[in-house]
Amino acid sequence: MAENRFQAIVEEIYERFKSYGVSRKEIENRLKLLLYEFKVPEEEARRTIINGLRKNYNIVKGDLKPSITKISEIEPNTWVSLKAKVVQLWEPNSPAIAQTGLIGDETGITRFVVWAKANKKRLEEGKCYLFERVVVDEFMGLKSVKVTSASEVKEIDEPIEVKDENAEVEVVGALVSIQQNSGLIQVCKLCGRVVKAGVCVEHGKVEANEVLRLKSVLDDGERTYDLILDEKIINSLTGIGLREARKLAEEHLDRGVVLLELKKRLLGKYLRVKGELRFRTLNAKSAEFYKPRIIEEVEKVLEEAGA
Ligand SMILES: [Zn+2]
Repeated sequence: MAENRFQAIVEEIYERFKSYGVSRKEIENRLKLLLYEFKVPEEEARRTIINGLRKNYNIVKGDLKPSITKISEIEPNTWVSLKAKVVQLWEPNSPAIAQTGLIGDETGITRFVVWAKANKKRLEEGKCYLFERVVVDEFMGLKSVKVTSASEVKEIDEPIEVKDENAEVEVVGALVSIQQNSGLIQVCKLCGRVVKAGVCVEHGKVEANEVLRLKSVLDDGERTYDLILDEKIINSLTGIGLREARKLAEEHLDRGVVLLELKKRLLGKYLRVKGELRFRTLNAKSAEFYKPRIIEEVEKVLEEAGA
């Protein structure tokens, strides 16, 4: 048995028994004995250890932590098993990631990552799975679940009602680019599209509204989002609202100055954004600057990529 798989089983059992004073070493010794000395199959070894520990430590069956953890109860740096539905799949932005997105159960929703090295069958959106021995991780304050080569994923034939399937998501990432059609712009009164020289591609010559809006790209290290920031949020981040933007444009006789100024204040910055996610587009409802402990996070990414 692979070393990481052995450790994953130890961790999983340890999580359930640690509050009773059971040590990792004790679980390891039992597992070694059963697997290598007595050649007991893996699943049976697991069960035997769990039953044995329960007897030794006088733990009533109902008192033991359930083997399936609810998403609302997952804790960072623990190994758990979950039953969950794949709510959304996203486009991963790293070759180390096979799949990423959101999974949910009746208690909540969490992000997940399947490492490419885990070599798992591809998950499908809308289907339900039993995720065994997955690692809960916390990255920049947000929890996610990692499927590694030590994990087991099986499709299950039971419906799972996901709580708040369309709930707001929270993302922390770097603002890596801002599109040209952003800043202080003229938009069509009928459809909201950007108007160039008074002409909308859909409606021809139209009346236009002047708005402050940014279309940008946010990268959280696992995927990218098309992030839309409206005037209120731009103002809260930069102090530049519609009024200030107009003043800037008038002073320089150029609307482009506003975009330059916003780029100067936002590009490359880390943001924590709450908003509604539709496919790739994240419509921000609130946003704030976020200062990461860069070195620590980079090390963590490297370590995880090797998982
Ligand atoms: Zn239009």
